[in-house]
Amino acid sequence: MELNDIYTEIIAENSKSQRNKRKIENPDVTLEGINPSCGDDITLALRMNGDVIEDAAFTGVGCAISQASSSIMIDLVKGKTIDEAKQLIQTFLGMITREVTDEEQLEALDEAIAFQNISNMPARVKCAVLSWHTLENAIGEYQQTK
Ligand code: ZN
Repeated sequence: MELNDIYTEIIAENSKSQRNKRKIENPDVTLEGINPSCGDDITLALRMNGDVIEDAAFTGVGCAISQASSSIMIDLVKGKTIDEAKQLIQTFLGMITREVTDEEQLEALDEAIAFQNISNMPARVKCAVLSWHTLENAIGEYQQTK
């Protein structure tokens, strides 16, 4: 199996997974992220415990890439601190723009590394980064109200 096939499979599996697609009770911050060029429209909800992302989930509609990216991101940041999550966001966005190529650094992204080759498909980049930008903005909003 080619590496690209494995990545495609990871994305396909996660896009179908409903594990992180749910509503959470008493979220501290809820934020909608829209990618008009594709029609992706997600709402990300976070429940915080101080600086820790205690629970995270999303609802909404979109293509397989945006849905898979949201779900994988939630798996990754749940239980992490705000600083750790911000670091992961920067690494992910850096991977997409090819500013981060260090394999050791990219390892932190776990399954999200499956989106590495999305930069070869410029039209889909916005789908892949939507949830990550939404998380970044949601954390910013939370920090402002704290
Ligand atoms: Zn999309």
